[in-house]
Amino acid sequence: MLQITTREIAEITGGTLVGGATGDETVTGTARIDSREAAPGDLFAAFPGEHVDGHDYLEAARTAGAAAALVTEDRGVPAVQVADVRTALSDLARAQLERARTENPELVVLAVTGSAGKTGTKDLLGTILTPAGETIAPAGTFNNELGLPLTVLRLTASTRFLVLEMGARGIGHIAQLTAIARPDISLVLNVGSAHLGEFGSVEAIATAKGELVEALAPGGRAILNVEDRLVAGMAERSAAPVLTWGFHEGTVRGTDLTLDDRARIGFDLVVPDGLTALDGTPIPSGTFPVRPDLLGEHQAANVLAALTGALAAGVDPAAAAASLEGATLASGHRMEVLEAGGALVINDAYNANPDSMRHALKTLAHLGRTRRTIAVLGEMLELGPDAALLHDEIGRLAVRLNISQLYVVGDGAAPIHHGASLEGSFGGESEYVDTVDEALAVLERTVRPGDAVLLKSSRDAGLRWLAQPLVEAL
Ligand code: ATP
Ligand code: MG
Repeated sequence: MLQITTREIAEITGGTLVGGATGDETVTGTARIDSREAAPGDLFAAFPGEHVDGHDYLEAARTAGAAAALVTEDRGVPAVQVADVRTALSDLARAQLERARTENPELVVLAVTGSAGKTGTKDLLGTILTPAGETIAPAGTFNNELGLPLTVLRLTASTRFLVLEMGARGIGHIAQLTAIARPDISLVLNVGSAHLGEFGSVEAIATAKGELVEALAPGGRAILNVEDRLVAGMAERSAAPVLTWGFHEGTVRGTDLTLDDRARIGFDLVVPDGLTALDGTPIPSGTFPVRPDLLGEHQAANVLAALTGALAAGVDPAAAAASLEGATLASGHRMEVLEAGGALVINDAYNANPDSMRHALKTLAHLGRTRRTIAVLGEMLELGPDAALLHDEIGRLAVRLNISQLYVVGDGAAPIHHGASLEGSFGGESEYVDTVDEALAVLERTVRPGDAVLLKSSRDAGLRWLAQPLVEAL
């Protein structure tokens, strides 16, 4: 956080000094909601939770060195009492960002949205921007009305790039987030069927995601995927110039995309003449090889999006491409590759929707050129009324992609097994198992050296717990 006193915090949040706070307590660290993470100079935000009440940890945070707290109840610890802690954090984040912009005109705020790949792209931006200047792009997903202010409140006087992930579960959600932190550069990756259940239609999802470009001032840049029709269509909602990217068309181009024998991507970044960054400086043109340690074509899209965003932010293309050499994703768990007993285990069970399932299966199929392929698939959550149909289609796709062996885990995922069985050639090759433990037992028996095994489901379907025991067993 930029240095701030409790008096100023009270002013910004409309709060009151309580618990003996003098108004002169000075916050120099960041905002924390977990007292175990509190460090000297931090601001501890006490949430009244369902199971645990943050107010019970006020003393612990103070002992850890927290300079002050945000509370809804006076518990005798120096604090600013507010009506609602979440709103207070948002107000504080907005005020801090405004101040940071005034004090440091070089500060660039980049925001990423899309149905899939936000966190990965945010991580990639972190990797590319960090060598160019102090960057905030914390590992993990902080894309809602709580995570976003907490990320903004990591700002320091020397922050050059602030990278924000913005998620939408409905119309107006992203507008709420941009009202806290207006981006200078907005990246929209794709519009797919993630959270379709909540939105009703992909057009509604596009309307919601497009709020990110509507928030841009004329001096900003919209970074759009020209190969996604609904994203490309957002150009007309932007007051700022649009910079498109794509592998077949678009202004910033990825060419010669290849996957190696471990499905790692590589492509050439082609930057045309005549582009300028946000600050008006020309972006050097040329062709730059990009070789990160990432799997699957969908990651290539995220890499190209991140590169285009970084160019707009003023990063030299040669430096940007070089920074990605061998790069992995800071947040982990996305197509994470583990090697054991001569087999490759790809753990992508952190998150799943039909689009990311399709991409993961295609990546596995690529490995099928030289390996036996095993897909272990669990439920994709939050798909709404079409859930069974969408699972069924994934089963059929697995057959069409010639995946050697399919294991479907858990009741909610059963339609994948049905789809695969109906589609044809999967006679005994698709098997349904009830639990993760059963899946483990089956895999221990079947996986052989040289196999490629994909583990994929939504986070709460639990397949991520398979990876470690499986690797240990192989
Ligand atoms: P969340 O909404 O949960 O925060 P996210 O948008 O941050 O998701 P990631 O966590 O980066 O997305 O990736 C989620 C899943 O989507 C991973 O399985 C990843 O491999 C896959 N994925 C990443 N990028 C794409 C893409 N461009 N298209 C389709 N799938 C993708
Ligand atoms: Mg995310």
